[in-house]
Amino acid sequence: MDKKDEINQIIDLPIAQRTYFSNPYSNLFKKLLLISPFLLIAISFSALRLKSYLYPFPIKNLYSQTQENNAHRILGHLPYGEISEDKLVLIEPNIEVHVDMSKSLLQMREDAKKDGIYLTFLSGYRSVKLQNDIFYSLKSIRNQVAAERAKVSAPPGYSEHSTGFAIDIGDAKNRDTDFEVEFENTNAFKWLKMNAAKYHFKLSFNKNNKYIDYEPWHWRYEGSIEALKVFENSNRND
Ligand SMILES: [Zn+2]
Repeated sequence: MDKKDEINQIIDLPIAQRTYFSNPYSNLFKKLLLISPFLLIAISFSALRLKSYLYPFPIKNLYSQTQENNAHRILGHLPYGEISEDKLVLIEPNIEVHVDMSKSLLQMREDAKKDGIYLTFLSGYRSVKLQNDIFYSLKSIRNQVAAERAKVSAPPGYSEHSTGFAIDIGDAKNRDTDFEVEFENTNAFKWLKMNAAKYHFKLSFNKNNKYIDYEPWHWRYEGSIEALKVFENSNRND
């Protein structure tokens, strides 16, 4: 048999009948592989929708925001803007406060009186300039370094008093406890602790404050949206 015949014989051979094993799973797998990008997009989209439904507020950034807010502190104090003059009202000689809190503050003093408690207002609004004088002059008089002084007085631009929403309160019957931690033992303080919240007043620097020393005489007003906005950072981080 020559070469040509040999090739013809091979070509003439009947094609073997082959049964291809068709695997139904492999087809399904191929289909899944084809639609997988679309599936992925659909799953991610639903997950995002579910997340925004479960957590309507962007809480994911709370931790980093806390870090950021704390980075703005100076010697433990948060920065505060100065109230515009048209929002200030004189409630007694030398005591000016934010007009929004004046009514509530005076009402609180009146109601305390009915219980035999005599509250006295020691300090309300303080300008950044006055805060500057207090911070630097007292620091030098007391021969304290800034960090020590900051424990009892805020640096200028960092005092709640410049917002008009802060008030230092004393006991008219115990004036020797003015601006002293001993104020906490007076009837005035005990009354405030029981009742101040009714008038939207809150102790700013309590015993657990991480940054600033305990100030039982220093209260702030949180009875308006503006006040709440002003103290938002503080309430989130203290
Ligand atoms: Zn104060």
